[in-house]
Amino acid sequence: MTQKKRLKSVTIPVSTFEHVMKQFNQAAEKLNIDPGLLEFLKYPKQSTIVSLPVKMDNGSFKMFTGYRVQHSIIRGPAKGGIRYHPDVTLDEVQALAAWMTWKCAVVNVPFGGGKGGVVCDPATMSQGELERLTRRYTAEIKELLGPESDVPAPDVNTNERTMAWIMDTYSMHAHHTVTSVVTGKPVVMGGSRGRREATGAGVVITIREALKHLKMKPESATAVVQGFGNVGSVSAQYLHKLGVRVTHICDIFGGLHNPDGIDIDALLKYVEENKNVVGFPGAKPFDRDKVLFVDADILVPAALENQITEHNANKVKAKIIAEGANGPVTPEADPILQGKGIFVIPDILCNAGGVTVSYFEWVQDRMGFFWTAEEVNQRLEQFMTNAFYDVLKVALENKVHLRMAAFMVAIQRVVEVVMLRGIYA
Ligand code: NAD
Repeated sequence: MTQKKRLKSVTIPVSTFEHVMKQFNQAAEKLNIDPGLLEFLKYPKQSTIVSLPVKMDNGSFKMFTGYRVQHSIIRGPAKGGIRYHPDVTLDEVQALAAWMTWKCAVVNVPFGGGKGGVVCDPATMSQGELERLTRRYTAEIKELLGPESDVPAPDVNTNERTMAWIMDTYSMHAHHTVTSVVTGKPVVMGGSRGRREATGAGVVITIREALKHLKMKPESATAVVQGFGNVGSVSAQYLHKLGVRVTHICDIFGGLHNPDGIDIDALLKYVEENKNVVGFPGAKPFDRDKVLFVDADILVPAALENQITEHNANKVKAKIIAEGANGPVTPEADPILQGKGIFVIPDILCNAGGVTVSYFEWVQDRMGFFWTAEEVNQRLEQFMTNAFYDVLKVALENKVHLRMAAFMVAIQRVVEVVMLRGIYA
């Protein structure tokens, strides 16, 4: 979401796309690449804005705004989720699309970067309204979409259900079933086993390897998770399985604390029934806004961007920050965290498990042959650990932090393909 910086009485919105640009520029400075080529890589290839009339349950029509951005298709089809949120902006979607380009290159899957979003508040909409909104949005951007051109997936406030509607709408227009046009679908209609858990599972693989690198033991470590949606809940569950004690958790509605470790499986059942973490009997209430500053070994921000800024980075006490969310740490906060010796596993590496299994889903759909959960998880392990050590190697060789190293790996991989393809200019 757009972060607001207060300066005297004026409120200046901070661009999330600028945030990615800064990260890109810092890494690009370390590489010996033609500046014109770097300019070509920075900006989105195409940004589309659509107006969506939707018939509401009370019979009235309401207009919504939707976006789809393709940042890059250099390494393959644009790939990236669709977000439903009242604060979605074109700037934010462009930033998220750019992060997807670099993320796909870090884990070395053959995709470019894309992202979509609709300005809406799903909490206030019925299933019928959400279905009609999703179908109209899909119809408006259907020329952009396709297994070879642009493949969406779930993001904040969208899920398997949303992907099923997108797949069906696209297929109705194509007059045949096209499963590989979206990933993150239900398994019974061409989804991949392990996709729902993939982002959180990947987050915890990178944490496990970081703990090894820092010579810390999971069973003596504590963790805090901000956000209990798809990424946060699975990260918490897999941390718990790894033997890490998860002492604090929060969602938008409130926080929880249990010094002995929260029983995540019990909490998952509670949230399924109650829709949020508040009132869970296995923990005490805790101030949601203080969760980021708890004295724990591992902090997993898994909610939204711009959470750790230059205004609060000093208060962070964790030894490891694993960025489950996209862009939770601003570029201004990064040097403060580095100064405190905090090991930050950057989003484009840490949360890349989702797009990795999305790649597996796309491959399986195109083959028409589906893998077991074991096969998916074993391949996810392989992709995530390879990416972690590719990035760590560059970080150690160049004496830079992991975010810079991840961008360096990604930019080099994209540039290599551009040089081979050439620029049609
Ligand atoms: P989600 O909608 O399933 O969950 C978001 C969670 O964050 C909810 O529990 C919500 O209550 C909580 N939240 C929102 N604002 C908060 C606040 N101010 N304080 C505390 N909690 C807050 O979304 P998700 O799919 O889990 O995505 C979360 C983040 O991970 C986003 O940045 C998304 O872009 C990123 N991400 C998601 C995936 C994926 O596969 N779903 C993959 C990569 C990255």
